[in-house]
Amino acid sequence: MSALSDTDALRQRIEARLEALRDEIDAKLGDAVDVTQALEHVGDNGDQSVVDDAATADFADARRDLDEYHAGRAALKRLDAGTYGACETCGEDIPRERLAASPFAARCIACQTRAEHDSGMRPTSM
Ligand SMILES: [Zn+2]
Repeated sequence: MSALSDTDALRQRIEARLEALRDEIDAKLGDAVDVTQALEHVGDNGDQSVVDDAATADFADARRDLDEYHAGRAALKRLDAGTYGACETCGEDIPRERLAASPFAARCIACQTRAEHDSGMRPTSM
């Protein structure tokens, strides 16, 4: 009974975050488009690189939000499937404190650290 209301509270929390992310992504992409349009009115090259940098930063921000948005959607799917809270790599329960801090977490800390390590470092030898 309490597990169900926990799930409902969690779902609401995730959906609220997803809605906020949608707004942020819209706003940032809107800014980036404004900046891109401003390019057409830029005269000298110096101004243009400033405008380019601004557009790139907006797109990078939106990109990060989009990654988080996808992670949130995946978390909702796990919630529906009843697998939420289990590490998708090793299957162990993700500690509650970790889920409280990052409700979109799909892996336990050990597996997340390993995944980031693996993706950040190119294998140089086999
Ligand atoms: Zn794990």
